[in-house]
Amino acid sequence: MDPVTGIVEKKVAEGAFNWVRKRLSPNAELQKELEAVKDRLEAAKRRIQELQAQFDVKKDFERRKAELQCLSDDDSMYRQKDGTGPYYCPLCLNADNKFIPLTHGTSDGSHYCSLHKQYFETLELRNRRRNNNQQRNSGGGHFRRGRPGPWS
Ligand SMILES: [Zn+2]
Repeated sequence: MDPVTGIVEKKVAEGAFNWVRKRLSPNAELQKELEAVKDRLEAAKRRIQELQAQFDVKKDFERRKAELQCLSDDDSMYRQKDGTGPYYCPLCLNADNKFIPLTHGTSDGSHYCSLHKQYFETLELRNRRRNNNQQRNSGGGHFRRGRPGPWS
């Protein structure tokens, strides 16, 4: 073989090799970028799943809350629309999105939220107390409770 031809062929081969290498290395870069994009996509998918779960919880909460009604006369406590089940704390429901059944307070119609350390009273209890006070102030009358007064 003509040495010149050999050199030329070698140069051509090197040139081709370099060309191929240049072609390949951007692909390697692309491959890396693709991996990074895939990672970001996976992270975004996980975030969407998290948000979806939060949304489901919120939707479930709103659905349950819609079954309740706010008893504005009874210190805005919440209860099932048919008047059954426990009373719920309006602060817990509206501020914290939580269903915390109130526990019984000191008397019938008094309800206590152990989270907010607050009592809630029904209109009926306030009326009963007012009537009792009026009866007491008017100096007697019948007490349904049957508790002896200070005068007896
Ligand atoms: Zn509460």
